[in-house]
This record gives sequence, structure tokens and C-alpha cells, in this order.
Amino acid sequence: MKVAVIGAGWAGLSAAFYLDRAGHRVTVFEAARTLGGRARRVHSPRLDSDIDNGQHILLGAYSETLKLIGLLGLDQASVLHAEPLALRSADGSFMLRTPALPAPLHLPAAVLTANGLSWREKLLLIKAMMRLRRQHWTVDAQATVGDWLAQERQSERAIGRFWRPLCLAALNTSIEQAGAQLLATVLRDSLGGSKLASQVLIPRVDLSQLWPEHLPPSIAIRPGTAVRRLVSDAVHVAIDDETFDAAIVATSPPSALRLLRHTSLTAAQEEFLAPLADFEYRPIATLTLKLAHHWNLPQAMLMLDDAPEKLHFGQWLFERRLFAQDQQLPPMLSIVVSNAGQLANHPPHEVVDAMIEQVRAQTRHHSPMPQVTGHELIVEKRATFAALPAMRRPTNATPWPRIWLAGDWTDTGYPAVLEGAVRSGKRAAELLAAAGFSQHSQAL
Ligand SMILES: Cc1cc2nc3c(=O)[nH]c(=O)nc-3n(C[C@H](O)[C@H](O)[C@H](O)COP(=O)(O)OP(=O)(O)OC[C@H]3O[C@@H](n4cnc5c(N)ncnc54)[C@H](O)[C@@H]3O)c2cc1C
Repeated sequence: MKVAVIGAGWAGLSAAFYLDRAGHRVTVFEAARTLGGRARRVHSPRLDSDIDNGQHILLGAYSETLKLIGLLGLDQASVLHAEPLALRSADGSFMLRTPALPAPLHLPAAVLTANGLSWREKLLLIKAMMRLRRQHWTVDAQATVGDWLAQERQSERAIGRFWRPLCLAALNTSIEQAGAQLLATVLRDSLGGSKLASQVLIPRVDLSQLWPEHLPPSIAIRPGTAVRRLVSDAVHVAIDDETFDAAIVATSPPSALRLLRHTSLTAAQEEFLAPLADFEYRPIATLTLKLAHHWNLPQAMLMLDDAPEKLHFGQWLFERRLFAQDQQLPPMLSIVVSNAGQLANHPPHEVVDAMIEQVRAQTRHHSPMPQVTGHELIVEKRATFAALPAMRRPTNATPWPRIWLAGDWTDTGYPAVLEGAVRSGKRAAELLAAAGFSQHSQAL
């Protein structure tokens, strides 16, 4: 079959990979010049360097992403730096690290040996996790993370040190608004899984190079080509001026809405599109700092204590030298701010100065922070959809003939994460291939 994929994010490219592998002729249309969508390389003239649009981490539980990397013939260890999960605050006030014990013992052991929580807080935290496990990682679909934490009698300190950072990192949504079920699913696959599943994997190369730029040459990729028109009928799909046997729309929800609303709609199609208009979005900001020389932080990824009233928005601090493949790259730090709506309301130069001050203050007991010689602040306004309770999310199959959807926002059961995108792309490709209408099309 001649198949089109619209969108070269991780979902579209995963779909393209599996379609190509199944022997179809695949063309990928991508509006941007660089592959990777919301996880891609950007060039920063200010830093005179390539950086990512935002620091990303993967988990050992991202099984489909890791499988894809393997199928592309890439060596996982050379593209991903792996560390046992260790939530360690930069100022030393909190530390939770998975010890060298097999699952499921590693989790209670990590909590019991944590510093920065009382015994009572540790026991309540373990109890909450055990109850989740007993309930097969399902909770009330309407509950927010905040509701669930209150029900589990988690203290303010346990929330501040453990649950809130975890919820923001995984769901990019405040605990007051985030859906508890989405967090439970992330916990099931990470902390609740094998010890390897809770490993933190940090890209050692830029996000476009990580795998999107390694697809087989048999896939025709057209960067810088925004699709404007998509029409399908029983026999074919027309994309702008070209005809295909089938298509996967792997864009953002607003873009998918624009493309699919093109023609007059049946009642089923109207109903299918309704949830796409309902998504809310949350920003993520990443401040990249260039340093005069290498630093020597104790760990690649440290937690920061945020205080938005002082414009101390930083939540996580990464030192690139500790994971980058290319050790000749200039020394850089990235500071990540999830759910960054408040940050975007302040002048960028004030935010940058305050966040540099925050890092300096909270790393005082390490070696002094080197001089900052350049910076880039990237705010991705629609970084992820808001992970709200009981969301309606569309399936990969659609009521349009010969059209499937892919994207982290389809009904993957996950929040907006790379693994959800990769799984969704693979699923859309499988459904399309299984529809088996190429003979039908030829017969017609
Ligand atoms: C700053 C930031 C940090 C993040 N951190 C993490 C993290 O640490 N871990 C994690 O797992 N996830 C993280 N995420 C989420 C992760 O990046 C996304 O879940 C994932 O990239 C979504 O992939 P996608 O293919 O579904 O969508 P997208 O990447 O949005 O892909 C859609 C593509 O479609 C293209 N497109 C749209 N319209 C058209 C058109 N008409 N014609 C052609 N092309 C079109 C777009 O240009 C885009 O490339 C983060 C996201 C951001 C922004």
C-alpha cells in the first residue's frame, strides 16, 4: 500500500517505521524542518550550539520506545544514559534512591532508606503504594491526585518532597488538577514494575538524533511540508495534490481537527472529533545555561526546590557532561520547569536571573557553580495536554475511511509522554495494515 503519515513526531515516525517494516510504501509529511515534533533538536544562536527544545527523560518502563531503538540497530547504552531512580534534592534535604534489591522489595527499601521524611511519612507512603498494587493500580477515575493523596493521608512534606515533583514530572499538571488514574498507571509501569523499569534514561545525543533521524531510507520523508488538505473516500485518500491508499494523521489535536473538519461531517464524525476540541494544554520551560567550565555535580539529575514567589521556578537540574555522548560539547546545564504557566507571565530576563540565583543558592554545599556565559530559555506553550481525570481521548481508528490517528493524546492510557506517542504510532500502523484493503482498492 502507498501510505501517508502526517506529522514526524515520535508517534508519526513510529507508525512510519512499522508500516515500512510491514512492506508498505511510506511517505511522511512534516511541517517543520527537523524531525521529532515536541521532542527535537533546535539550534540556539545565543549559545551557538544545538540543544533540545526541552530536556526529556525516558524510563526503563518505556518498553516500546526501547524496542524501536533496538530494531533500528542502535545501541541503547550509547544513546541513553541509564541511572537507578534517585530523587535527590540539590540542597541535600531529600534523597530517595532504589537500592540493589530485586523488585518489588526495591521500592519499600527505597522509601525506608530515604532521608528527609519521618518514619510515619515513610510508612504512609509505602501503605499508599501497597494499596495501589492490591487494587491493580486502578483508582477512582474521577479523583485528582490531590484527592487521592488526601485519602492516603500523605503529609504536606511527603507531598512537597515526593508526590508533587513526581506528578509534575510525569503529568505536567498540578496535583490539584491531575487525574489520579494517570499517575497510578505511570507508577504501575515504573516503581511498580521491575527494577529496570524504574531506571531513569537520559538521552546522550540530541532528541532528533536519538532515533528519528535513523529511520530506513526506504521511508520518504518530506520535512518543511505542511499538509493543508485531507480528503478520504472508500477508494483512496487525497493529501493536497497526491493520492494514497491510506493515511495516519499524527499531528497535534488542533491540527488534526483542522484537517478532518475539511469536509461536511456525519454525526459519528462530529461526535468523534468532540474530545479533540476539549484538550487543555500545559507549558514546559527549559532554561539552558552555558558555563565557563565543567561543574561537578554528584548526579546527572537533581531536584530543585521551587519558590514561584521569588521567580525560583526551577524543579530539576541536569548537568550535560554527566550523560552526553560527545564530551567535547560546551559545558551546559538545563533547568526544567513543568506546568510553567506562571513563569510565562514574567519578563524572561528576570526569570533567567532569578533561576540562576536559585541554582547557585541550592547548590551551595557543592563546588561553586561556574560562571554562566550564555543562556537560552525555551517555553513550549503546548508541551503536553493537561492530564485531567476521566478524559475522553480518541481511538486510533476513526469514522473516516482509510484514516487512522496517532499521537500521545490518543487513548493510550498514559499521560502525554514519549512512550505513549510511540505506542500510539505502532498501534495505528497495526490497525491500518490489518484493515487489508489494498486488494479492495485495486479491485475497485
Ligand atoms: C519541553 C517538553 C518536555 C517534555 N518532557 C518529556 C519527558 O521528559 N518525557 C516524556 O516521556 N515526554 C516528555 N514530553 C512529551 C513528549 O515530548 C511528547 O509526548 C511527544 O513528543 C509527543 O509526540 P507526538 O508524535 O504525539 O506529537 P508531536 O511531537 O507534537 O508531533 C506532531 C507533529 O506533527 C507536525 N504537524 C502538525 N500539523 C501538520 C501538518 N498539517 N502537516 C505536516 N505536519 C504537521 C508537527 O510539526 C509535529 O512535528 C515533553 C514535551 C515537551 C514539549
